[in-house]
Amino acid sequence: METIRLRKDSPDLKFRDLVLPLSKLNLCLTCGTCAGGCPVSDWEGMDPRKLIRMIALGMEQEVIDSDWPWQCTECQRCTWVCPMGVNLGQIIKNARGARPREECPGEIQKTADNHREMGNNMRLTIEDGIETFEWMAEELEDEQIPGFKVPIDKEGAEFYCTINSKLPQYYPGDLQSIYKVFHAAKVDWTIPSQWWEGTNYAMFTGDFDTWEYTLRKQVDRVHEMGCKTMAYTE
Ligand code: SF4
Ligand code: SF4
Repeated sequence: METIRLRKDSPDLKFRDLVLPLSKLNLCLTCGTCAGGCPVSDWEGMDPRKLIRMIALGMEQEVIDSDWPWQCTECQRCTWVCPMGVNLGQIIKNARGARPREECPGEIQKTADNHREMGNNMRLTIEDGIETFEWMAEELEDEQIPGFKVPIDKEGAEFYCTINSKLPQYYPGDLQSIYKVFHAAKVDWTIPSQWWEGTNYAMFTGDFDTWEYTLRKQVDRVHEMGCKTMAYTE
């Protein structure tokens, strides 16, 4: 293993200050239990214990600049097994959030931006969404459930149904499985014409502002429509 080189002039102590109260990282005993169960331990020379030690020793910028926090699966196994209650999940999420947005790997932040701008990850317009939801309902009515209608924007419905936007975009037939569950359960439900996205990539990118913005928009819509329960079908 490579020797850790301590840095006296840590460039950004704000990160450690930010995560310290939430993560309890100063309680770490260096026992290694977290590293023992981590599925990506030693990937590119990093593991959760090493990550904690680097932050504790003022090397947070090296952690933020490395790709390791993005290779973490966010399974939270490390957090659950830690005898001192160190919240590694919180630290890793914040490390992702500390990356400049344009330097996030892959398309994941672009997906979060789409969600914020269009209400769903796939940039479907309200009209596109409604058209696909109704198209699949019509097929279901013709082929399997006579009289079936998809309730769009039904005010006061018990269940506010959310949808993974990959379904209307790439796998519309899978919408029928969701319709069938609600139909079989004989519950009062609806799909809203907007803010129906059932995933939130901003959570994975550490973009807390977009995560909160999109969730608040969805919750506002639930309240506007007078629905009682959000149903995450993802
Ligand atoms: S399991 Fe907890 S106490 Fe042990 S090394 Fe990991 S973070 Fe530190
Ligand atoms: S949350 Fe990340 S660091 Fe923790 S065990 Fe899972 S993959 Fe490893």
